[in-house]
Amino acid sequence: MTAALSAKPKPAPLSATDKALDKLGLVRDIDLALHLPLRYEDETRITKLDEAREGDAIQIEGAVIACEVSYRPRRQLIVTVNDGTDTCTLRFFSFYPSQQKALEVGNRIRARGEIKGGFLGWTMLHPAFRAAGGPLPTALTPVYPTVAGLPQPVLRKAVLAGLARADLSDTFEPGDLAQFNPHVLWTLRAALQFLHHPTPDVSLDTLQDHSHPAWQRLKAEELLAQQLSQLQSRRARAALRAPVLAEVHGGTLHDRLLAALPFALTQAQRRVSAEIARDMARHVPMHRLLQGDVGAGKTVVAALAATICMDAGWQCALMAPTEILAEQHFRKLLGWLEPLGITTAWLTGNQKAKERRRMLEMIESGEARLVVGTHAVIQEKVHFKNLALAVIDEQHRFGVAQRLALRRKLRHEGMEPHLLMMTATPIPRTLAMSYYADLDVSTLDELPPGRTPIVTKVVNEARRHEVIERIRAQIAQGRQVYWVCPLIEESEALDLSNATETHAELSAALQGTPIPSGEAAQVGLLHSRMPSDEKKAVMAAFVQGQMAVLVSTTVIEVGVDVPNASLMVIDHAERFGLSQLHQLRGRVGRGAAASACVLLYATGDAPRLSEAARERLKAMAETNDGFEIARRDLEIRGPGEFLGARQSGEAMLRFANLALDGALLEWARAEAPKLLDQHPALADKHVQRWLGGKAEYLKA
Ligand code: ADP
Ligand code: MG
Repeated sequence: MTAALSAKPKPAPLSATDKALDKLGLVRDIDLALHLPLRYEDETRITKLDEAREGDAIQIEGAVIACEVSYRPRRQLIVTVNDGTDTCTLRFFSFYPSQQKALEVGNRIRARGEIKGGFLGWTMLHPAFRAAGGPLPTALTPVYPTVAGLPQPVLRKAVLAGLARADLSDTFEPGDLAQFNPHVLWTLRAALQFLHHPTPDVSLDTLQDHSHPAWQRLKAEELLAQQLSQLQSRRARAALRAPVLAEVHGGTLHDRLLAALPFALTQAQRRVSAEIARDMARHVPMHRLLQGDVGAGKTVVAALAATICMDAGWQCALMAPTEILAEQHFRKLLGWLEPLGITTAWLTGNQKAKERRRMLEMIESGEARLVVGTHAVIQEKVHFKNLALAVIDEQHRFGVAQRLALRRKLRHEGMEPHLLMMTATPIPRTLAMSYYADLDVSTLDELPPGRTPIVTKVVNEARRHEVIERIRAQIAQGRQVYWVCPLIEESEALDLSNATETHAELSAALQGTPIPSGEAAQVGLLHSRMPSDEKKAVMAAFVQGQMAVLVSTTVIEVGVDVPNASLMVIDHAERFGLSQLHQLRGRVGRGAAASACVLLYATGDAPRLSEAARERLKAMAETNDGFEIARRDLEIRGPGEFLGARQSGEAMLRFANLALDGALLEWARAEAPKLLDQHPALADKHVQRWLGGKAEYLKA
């Protein structure tokens, strides 16, 4: 180390207050200014006890007429205050000698808290109090979110100091918001000043629910920052290059696949295919999310995109999150593409070494023009000759790192492949607009014809035997049934025994039930701990109809396609998440037969289901629409959990509420490109102000 460096003065050690502020992310003056109160306390008024109402949060002022420590039922300090109109008892279960002294008989005090009436007169539990005297404050007292070791008065002082020092000049004119809402004519400075010290005449409700115009300004600011940062990352992506995959016609693979399909594409499938083809024909990497409810027919859309890629002379990869799903894609694509002379490679984690080596060779030489597999596709040893299109099914099951790894599989300098992500968990519009704004979204909003809607019933565990009777009736008609057992998080072993027991129970109950072929019905078992060969064999038997009932853990959650299955029973449905229930239900209703889904629930030792569980089951019974389900899921869980913390970037939206602020979000979305184009310096300032160092993290 050089002398100059070692002589550099060490930064002063952080004080406890600075450490606590740091923990809250309050580093810059602007961070402090944007740290807004959770709620307010009204110390501007004194309420006389004869005017108090039960349950009000009030401040009283009076003389202490009694103060004693009582030991029954437990140690507590009991203080009686008389304000000239009535008396009130204050109770403290924990107290310091200094507080006891401040509450001595004869002292005049102000006490603030929720007042309760009762047999023994007014009481307040653990009120805040101080010596009476001095003028009443003229503004409401803000209460800020804080952490241990940072008391409100210290934080309040720091926030007000930050507010005074910070640059609060506007990055957009208050008038820009007037078109959205004529009441939002607040500058940032005015809004912040107000929210840190609102005048007592304001309605506390409008502050609490963030509907006050000052809040509207802040929410608009916050949403604009989010939109700007997403737009910046979208523009950064536009500077990258990708192979141009122009669609050509006349005897191409694409034309031949279209002609060979046993069905006509739906209107929606044609529309999204055109959107994808347009993206791939550009030299900018596609970054598109194809969302469509379960059974909407995303696979054929992916296959058509793949043929365009192969027609242009490039390779294509498809990655799915589970082996069962990947295998199913492989079979389906093989069925469509093999007759067209396309060689497809198959990659999975538990392949035999020899087979695997052969696959890797085919991929590297370019003999395999399409590669289908699990995570194995992105392993280091996999070298593509010329990958130009990567498709990721059920994209929410993959992390950012895995998507990036797939994109890096194109070895040409400075180029990235086109990326098509697919999901059956549709993202509600407000979320798509805010968290996925740097992604293009195509939506399959139409199911292929001939599907009959699924009837969903919520049934108490006590009626399990009736459900089993229903299964018997279904399989007697030659239909197939899924029975899904819940994942027991704490223990895979328990999980397994649960599925095994259910399998035994159903095997016994259904033993000898004849199915139309004249044979006795078979009950199969599928769980995640089974060796992959066994899993495959069971799945194949079910797909081919040799097995009437399949008892399974959630390994069948995504993508499995057996059109003859017409009944889905979900055991302990209360333990599943809403989107998971919807995915599972999507395994039936894939053929022409009327299908049903039974959600069996148990309350365990509790008298009834939890509120959230009831909401989930109710949503399932009320709608089959994946978009509506996603909207309710968002409502029940909130965006953080809906997206998973990693994807949403936890503190990204602190003030705006996507369920309520859709109009402001629309405004921000329209405003962001204008600001970025016309006033790039202001746009930068805005993003820095709101996201500071966080912007980079949020782009990942
Ligand atoms: P998902 O969108 O859930 O992945 P799939 O791609 O598995 O749906 O398609 C569900 C089923 O619908 C498959 O059997 C598929 O072959 C069939 N399918 C897809 N498109 C059509 C269509 N236009 N008409 C009829 N059946 C179709
Ligand atoms: Mg699918």
